[in-house]
Amino acid sequence: MALRLGSGAECFRCGEEQDLSPEVIAKLAAELPLEAALRVEPAEYERRLAVCGACEDLRAKILCARCGCFVQFRARIQGAYCPHPGGDLWARPAVSEPETGSLNR
Ligand code: SF4
Repeated sequence: MALRLGSGAECFRCGEEQDLSPEVIAKLAAELPLEAALRVEPAEYERRLAVCGACEDLRAKILCARCGCFVQFRARIQGAYCPHPGGDLWARPAVSEPETGSLNR
């Protein structure tokens, strides 16, 4: 049985049609009753999701193929890490854009 994800996907357990779109998963993650100390700041949350968005291990914009987590949940948690075998991609400093024209010198 193939796992289908996204809006209108069928739950592999109950067979009911579920909306597993990134927007719905993000909304559910935002409602996670986490104490403030256990929650990352919004900017850090968005930064982590941007890293996931560029990762080859992200499936259907919601699932990390390395750990099976919904990244929208995992990225909210202070102390959570990225399980990429090459090292924690969330911990790497952001790569800055090259200055305009610097590649043409
Ligand atoms: S390996 Fe890391 S960056 Fe890639 S999807 Fe999983 S948590 Fe995100």
